[in-house]
Amino acid sequence: MHTPLCRHAAGEPVEYAARAVELGLTEIGFSDHSPMRRDDFDDWRMRFDQLDEYVEKVRKAQKDFPQLTIKLALETDYLPGQEEWIRELAARHSWDYLIGSVHYVSQDWAIDSPYQLSKWKEHDPYEVWSIYFDWLTRAADSGLFEIIGHADLPKKFRIIPKEDCTSLFDKFLITAARKNVAIELNTAGLRKDCKEIYPSKQILQMAKDRNVAITFGSDAHAPAEVGMNFSEAVALARGVGYTHCRRFTQRKVESVILQ
Ligand SMILES: [Zn+2]
Ligand SMILES: [Zn+2]
Repeated sequence: MHTPLCRHAAGEPVEYAARAVELGLTEIGFSDHSPMRRDDFDDWRMRFDQLDEYVEKVRKAQKDFPQLTIKLALETDYLPGQEEWIRELAARHSWDYLIGSVHYVSQDWAIDSPYQLSKWKEHDPYEVWSIYFDWLTRAADSGLFEIIGHADLPKKFRIIPKEDCTSLFDKFLITAARKNVAIELNTAGLRKDCKEIYPSKQILQMAKDRNVAITFGSDAHAPAEVGMNFSEAVALARGVGYTHCRRFTQRKVESVILQ
């Protein structure tokens, strides 16, 4: 979940926590968009000098809601070459987990940005999906992350290649399994044009068959989105055979039975 520091989310962590308590959730996690080494990289993440403020906001929610487990995490952008920066971020606080996400397929194109939607018209969809999954595979292979975020994000605007993408998914999932990295079931996809959880049932079934672990996330950018559509996500996971998901505390993994 996110905070206003990323400049495209609303509501303080305490408000997200209040909503979680209202829903009867027992555990939530904040993983706001982490800073880049250069603050002018883009305008949809916290600045580096706000990192401590972010941690304080989450700590305040933890203090105000002792009945709720609140994890402190980051959603970190993976681009090849960012590894050293991500290691520096990882060392700055005692994070519970790091989510590695690919949004960029080049230094200046975030494929999920509605402001850059026209860029899709300049590229072949299969070429974009190929780069995306190649970078996602590298993210899984990097050993930097506990979780890989929204694994099939390129479907967001429903721009799907005609070509069969199974081999792209396969390479990524085999790497995730080998490196013991989980993928998240992210319900935000249901709120986008694709109207589908990330990842698709096809990818999730492949993940199950290859023994890739899962987590659940609402990717809430507002308190009202906390835990949204979780019952659908759990049903999807069960439908392909999952019985457990993962939880992380200070980057240590624990397997949790699906309730
Ligand atoms: Zn966001
Ligand atoms: Zn993301």
